[in-house]
Amino acid sequence: MYWRRNLSEFRDLSKLINEGNEDKIIASEVSGNDKSSEVITQVVETQNAETKEIDFNEKRKPFDVGLFSREVSNKAEGKNKVYAQLAQNISSYDISDGCIRSVVYKLLGTPVKDFRDRWLPISFRATLGNACHDFIQGTTDQFSEGEVSLKVPSIRFSGRLDNLNGNNVLAEIKSCTYTDYSKIIKTQRPRNADFYQTIAYKYILENHLEEAKNPGVPTRSGVPSLDMYDIDTIQFLYLAHDITASDVEDLGTSLKLVKSVKQQLNSKRNPFYFITSLILDTNCFDVEPYILFVKNKITRINEYLVANKLPPETDEFTNKKKCFFCMYNNVCDIR
Ligand code: SF4
Repeated sequence: MYWRRNLSEFRDLSKLINEGNEDKIIASEVSGNDKSSEVITQVVETQNAETKEIDFNEKRKPFDVGLFSREVSNKAEGKNKVYAQLAQNISSYDISDGCIRSVVYKLLGTPVKDFRDRWLPISFRATLGNACHDFIQGTTDQFSEGEVSLKVPSIRFSGRLDNLNGNNVLAEIKSCTYTDYSKIIKTQRPRNADFYQTIAYKYILENHLEEAKNPGVPTRSGVPSLDMYDIDTIQFLYLAHDITASDVEDLGTSLKLVKSVKQQLNSKRNPFYFITSLILDTNCFDVEPYILFVKNKITRINEYLVANKLPPETDEFTNKKKCFFCMYNNVCDIR
């Protein structure tokens, strides 16, 4: 029995100590040194692949969640700072969901007073999201291209799509809360921001391919491999991963939500009930207004940058719903 073995190990240890056989525990006794004054250290590699000197005479404390919360905050602050300093391009997120004024603030290099995340668990959610991507992309062989960089310096655009299959299928992997997941499977509609993000990729692939394929432009991953794309199938792979979403009051409600999702998706025959696929056929709806939205937003951002001007409140792409999480809300005078 496991507990019996542990108990007997504990008794052996007590016996050893009571018999004064500390030399079997601490090497310093063997050499006759005073163990209280001796510093025994060892250089170890930490889980972050950094090296650290451990002093064995120092009593260490167990993991502290309160301290961890501050560690999360500091790390996010550092990351956000680096991101803001390096940001020189319009991202797909800027197009799909961002307030145009915050995009222009960012690209004009406006100093940020506070880089901390407004909601700390956001970095945990991002980590879960990356794991969802890795799970699908590291397992499947169904796509012809994965993680494709789309960098178009002439319009200051830089994005990275998840997957392409042939010249007509564009697929994005999206992780989400069960609340969003439940809405998505009920309505069979992608989230707005996800939709516009894919339209931005479609627009770039079909209108700026030559520049996006330019081998002289450094990119984080591969560039598109084909010479022509005509995206008529947009696929969203939604993965529900989070039952602790802030929009659910308690764990009981979350579990009920998960149960109802499982029932809706008849999960007895579907072990991956938390993954769902939505497919849009662009021949079945008028995609032009959405393409125009993307094109106009990119053009407008570039115009403001050239004129060194901030977008006014009346600009159709100013989005005050984003003010709470905006890094520029302490300098922005229209929030
Ligand atoms: S504070 Fe609001 S209006 Fe101002 S840039 Fe940010 S999101 Fe836009």
